[in-house]
Amino acid sequence: MTQLSAHFTLEELTHSDTAIAHRIPNSPTPEHLANAKNWTVPGMELLRHLLGDTAINVHVAYRNPQVNVLVGGTPTSAHPEFFAVDFDRPGETPRTTATRIAGFMKKGLIHIDQLILERAPGRVVHVSFDPRGAKPGQPSRARGMMGYQPGGPGTPIDWGYFK
Ligand SMILES: [Zn+2]
Repeated sequence: MTQLSAHFTLEELTHSDTAIAHRIPNSPTPEHLANAKNWTVPGMELLRHLLGDTAINVHVAYRNPQVNVLVGGTPTSAHPEFFAVDFDRPGETPRTTATRIAGFMKKGLIHIDQLILERAPGRVVHVSFDPRGAKPGQPSRARGMMGYQPGGPGTPIDWGYFK
């Protein structure tokens, strides 16, 4: 196992059932791994702490561009850049988790580019940490978008849901 931080490993963040099924290696490029180390993993550690320092169940984080096409992800998805994580928390509904995260964002406690409550195909919380051009060490310029996507990848997102 390669620990990227106290609570997240490279293996869990690059696991993809789709990649395995299609025998595609899902190893990140150096640039994508740097995105994870500089922004996504520190963001997930802060988020884990804000949520109460209990387990985060990662469904998927990195999908290389080939895997992203296979799952029907949009080309502009943050997953192929290693900026996004889909997860849930044992003992809490994704809706409750997402609502709590929206509260942290509104208070300025964490910089998230997009928070999306996804109902299909999995019931997960999607968070992305794209800093929108900020350099490591600078404050992130993440957009703080919050939405609900009931229909699965590529379907409309209600960006007013958590307002
Ligand atoms: Zn996602």
